[in-house]
Amino acid sequence: MPRKDAVIVNALVRQALIAAQEVMGENGLNAVLRTSGLERFIGNFPPDDMNPSIQASQYARLNAAIEEFYGRGGPGILKRVGKASFEYAVREQAALLGIAGAALKLLPERQRIKFILNSMVGALKKSNAQVEAWVDDSGERVAFIESTCAICHSRTSDKPICHLYIGSIGEAVRWATGREHVITETHCLAKSDPYCRFEVGEAKDA
Ligand SMILES: [Zn+2]
Repeated sequence: MPRKDAVIVNALVRQALIAAQEVMGENGLNAVLRTSGLERFIGNFPPDDMNPSIQASQYARLNAAIEEFYGRGGPGILKRVGKASFEYAVREQAALLGIAGAALKLLPERQRIKFILNSMVGALKKSNAQVEAWVDDSGERVAFIESTCAICHSRTSDKPICHLYIGSIGEAVRWATGREHVITETHCLAKSDPYCRFEVGEAKDA
């Protein structure tokens, strides 16, 4: 079933490009912008606003280009880009994330995890009302789910491929809890699952 192509707003593309440049350097980023047909962003990042920027399928192509560029190291690089994206969002887009002034210290860890994942859902929905994302709190482990994931749009794979998302969620959970947790993508649209699902596992120092 082909998915509708969604719009990604400037603020999110800017966040991803700044994060990718931080991790890959300017030359690395420029190379993948060229191979993914996004050369218009070379030295010319979009502004931090909510106007439409690119299609989800183009965003997915950029992710695929980064993975191809680094070969076996691709997933690791994409996780680092995701981590840097969340760091950028905390630094520059705290209002969008709805985390300004959040006091989490007194909450149990599971509440903190739910808070930050719900904040990410809220930010995504603010950027595009058609985004379908939610937090599943019903199981033993909290999970973040999106059925409109842009990272794997139009891509197929026998394994989950949304590595950038794993990096962002991992950093979000670290921000909220002060500890690294194992994040696992259990379902992925690219392998014909109904959504991409990311489960927050054990703390790594547990
Ligand atoms: Zn995905």
